[in-house]
Order: sequence, then C-alpha cells, then structure tokens
Amino acid sequence: MRLVLIGPPGAGKGTLAVRMKEKYGVAHISTGDMLRDNVKRDTELGKEAKRYMEAGKLVPDDVIIRMMAQRLKEPDCNEGFLLDGFPRTVPQAEALDDLLDVMGLTLDAVILFSIGDEEVVTRLSGRRVCKECGAIYHISFHPPLREGTCDLCGGEVVQREDDKEQVVRNRLEVYRQQTAPLVEFYRAKGLLFEVDASRSSEEVLASIETRLGVRDDHP
Ligand code: AMP
Repeated sequence: MRLVLIGPPGAGKGTLAVRMKEKYGVAHISTGDMLRDNVKRDTELGKEAKRYMEAGKLVPDDVIIRMMAQRLKEPDCNEGFLLDGFPRTVPQAEALDDLLDVMGLTLDAVILFSIGDEEVVTRLSGRRVCKECGAIYHISFHPPLREGTCDLCGGEVVQREDDKEQVVRNRLEVYRQQTAPLVEFYRAKGLLFEVDASRSSEEVLASIETRLGVRDDHP
C-alpha cells in the first residue's frame, strides 16, 4: 500500500495515517512530524525550518525533497507507506515521481481530504498538544482532565505556535495557493479520490478502505 494523503491542515490526515499504520503495518511518514522533531533536537535542518513553520509558511522544496529522499530508503518503507503532508507543492510531487521511478515503485492512490475552512479553524485553534509525549487534546471536544496537564504522562499541554488562529488562516491560504494545484496534478494521472473529512475518523477510514478494496465487512 503506497498512498499520498492530501488536504488542508486539520483535515485529519495524521489521525487516519496513525490508524492505518497500526492496521496495515505500513510506514507513516509525516514531514511535519519529521520537521518538528528536528526543531526539538535543534539540528541544522530544524534551525532552518523553524522560522517558516512558526509563520505557517512552507519550508523550501529542496530541503524537504532531500529529507524525503533519505526517508523513503529506510527499511520500514518496504511494506508500503502513507505520505502525510508531502508532497505539498508541484515541484515536490515531481520530485516524488522521480524518487519512486528510481526505486521502481508507483503510488496506489492519492486521497483528498475535503473539509471547509471554518471547520479547520475550529479544530486547529482549539487543539492542544503535550510537549512531552505528543498526545493530542481539544479544548472543547477532548480536554485533558486537569487543564494544561497531560492525562497520559503529566507533561505540559500547550498550543502549537502554528495552531494560533491567524497562523491557521495563513496555512489555509498557503494550502490553497501551493498545495491545491496537486489535486489536478494527481487527477490527471487517474490516482485521485476524495473523502468527506468532516465525518468521524471511523467513517473516513471505512470509505477509504472501500475505495481501496481492502474493506472486510465480515468480521
Ligand atoms: P503539518 O504538521 O503537516 O501541518 O506541517 C507543519 C509545518 O511544517 C507546515 O506548516 C510547514 O511549515 C512545514 N511542512 C511540513 N511538510 C512540508 C512540506 N512537504 N513542504 C514544506 N513545508 C512543510
């Protein structure tokens, strides 16, 4: 299974990818998580990426493409992968085609997560994350038992800099301008299908499985 997940921030690509990774044993590759890890470890890459990320802008293509060229060679990709947040521009998609060509691989499908802007703003501006273990909360839909403290590890629960409302709106604009053109890029290749991402993650997973022909309705 080799899939690309496309959609605006907050559409639930990451949540879905985590569930599919558990179920199908494929690698979940989130460029956002990889970059945040580099920022946390204060690597050269992290230092370069940080200012773009905090402003809700895209990190330059060459940086991302170099990072992905390494990542796709790692052994956990042998069983397949879910690309979450990559590619995000047409040059990144072209580079992915080249990388896969060299590896003799093709994509099975590109899944477009459709969701309205206001739903994204509500989801993301209320999102909180644990600084220690990365657990995700929401101030209205899933608050921690004790405000500001992680239920799982006791770590501090904070708002990501790029989840602040104004930054979320910038990220949506960046999505429209730079990432949305990928919809036509992949539609033209006959790889694209769309899911309604405003539904629960169970429903989104079920419709993806049906479309991929991997759904087992007979437990
Ligand atoms: P995400 O967690 O996927 O929303 O990514 C968080 C931030 O990381 C984005 O707002 C960008 O600044 C950066 N980022 C993640 N993936 C990419 C990518 N493929 N190309 C450029 N920037 C990226």
